[in-house]
Amino acid sequence: MAATPEPVVIVGAGQAGAWVAATLRAEAPDARIVMIGAEPHAPYERPPLSKGILAGKAEPASAALRPPGYWEGAGIALATGRRAVAIDRAARCVLLDDGTAERYGTLVLTTGAEARTLDAPVDARAPVHLLRTLDDALALGPRLRPGARIVAIGAGFVGLEVAATAREAGCAVTVLEAAPAALGRVLDPTVAEAIVDLHRRHGVEVAFGVRVNAIRAAPGGGARVDLADGRSIAADTVVVGIGARPCDDLARAAGIACDDGILTDAEGRTSDPLIFAAGDVARAMHPLMGRALRLESWQNAQNQGIALGKLLAGGEAPAAEVPWFWTDQFGANIQMCGAPRAWDQVVWRGRPEDGRWSVLYLCAGRAVGGNTFDAARDMRALRRLVEVGAPVDPARFADPATNLLALMRELAPA
Ligand SMILES: Cc1cc2nc3c(=O)[nH]c(=O)nc-3n(C[C@H](O)[C@H](O)[C@H](O)COP(=O)(O)OP(=O)(O)OC[C@H]3O[C@@H](n4cnc5c(N)ncnc54)[C@H](O)[C@@H]3O)c2cc1C
Repeated sequence: MAATPEPVVIVGAGQAGAWVAATLRAEAPDARIVMIGAEPHAPYERPPLSKGILAGKAEPASAALRPPGYWEGAGIALATGRRAVAIDRAARCVLLDDGTAERYGTLVLTTGAEARTLDAPVDARAPVHLLRTLDDALALGPRLRPGARIVAIGAGFVGLEVAATAREAGCAVTVLEAAPAALGRVLDPTVAEAIVDLHRRHGVEVAFGVRVNAIRAAPGGGARVDLADGRSIAADTVVVGIGARPCDDLARAAGIACDDGILTDAEGRTSDPLIFAAGDVARAMHPLMGRALRLESWQNAQNQGIALGKLLAGGEAPAAEVPWFWTDQFGANIQMCGAPRAWDQVVWRGRPEDGRWSVLYLCAGRAVGGNTFDAARDMRALRRLVEVGAPVDPARFADPATNLLALMRELAPA
């Protein structure tokens, strides 16, 4: 009789974990797969949490990564509402918060990231919300009533998406950002400014260089946001959207190499050959970008999950792709590709006032990143130019008469 294969245990039933499990099942029908998720829900996608679901326009079920019954039907033992609390590498098991242990042959950590909390005193009675989970979105959504005063702290993607959704729901919205610009880590300031302009045109107040000293509970169920400059802003609801931190605590406590995320090679292998990581929690070597990156994006969670599922089934992982991210704000679709650390030229094709535009980031004449604003069809060319680091003539890119796909085929033939 063949020996029962040792189980693959996946900790974290989010997007990356779900793709590892589903891909592994498709490729290896006999694999024993256990997936443990701290949330009470089966795996779902997070992008709608700040968009359709927050607005009450999409059903929570629409975000599910698989139809109801899939996990059971596929023979994947999904345990929701259970948290892994420690890894015993010597005994090859994961300890759970209900006192049980799960033995593994291979362990996959897809624990994602969690919303950062404010580093300032916050009265527990004040209506202060974070947005990371479906339950967060379901708690926040009903508070976005017409006329409600919403203060979003943080002008990153989550803060700006919440601001747009709240404003479209008829709320009075203020965004407070400590840095001098929005989306500072990922976009050129001119691009960020164009996105902030979009918000201002829709009536969102956006303030930069603003530090929050404290959030107090106000009579009647609201909040006062006290600023370092002495001002105090009244809010019915405060949303803190100041980024996320990787949930790498389990790995660190088990002695696995971490550095703001679990360090992995290009295939997701951690410093322990039996333990892999993928998604928001992983700082993985990116073959195209030539360095380790911790990406917080839908594309990355899905691609790394699929790649790891194939690898664990004994197959070959698909080739890496250029990092890509999208956001929807006020009906505009904004996309970005690449992960440039530095650029010395930003070339615009179209202008913000045109309502649709694309931007190419060059470093020493070579493509390192790109953005599109309601110009999604330009993204394919941008991604390919960035993938090969093509030398691009700025004038040709900027010229609206240039066919970008033809330029792509010329500069970066397949
Ligand atoms: C509001 C919001 C909007 C977004 N919008 C976009 C977008 O428009 N475009 C885009 O590209 N990306 C977007 N993203 C990012 C994208 O959703 C994430 O990159 C993706 O969800 C990461 O998937 P993951 O599986 O790595 O982590 P997660 O989805 O965070 O899943 C990790 C899971 O692991 C669980 N877990 C953690 N620790 C434990 C433990 N010890 N035991 C058991 N379970 C544990 C967590 O509870 C969680 O359910 C958005 C994210 C958010 C929060």
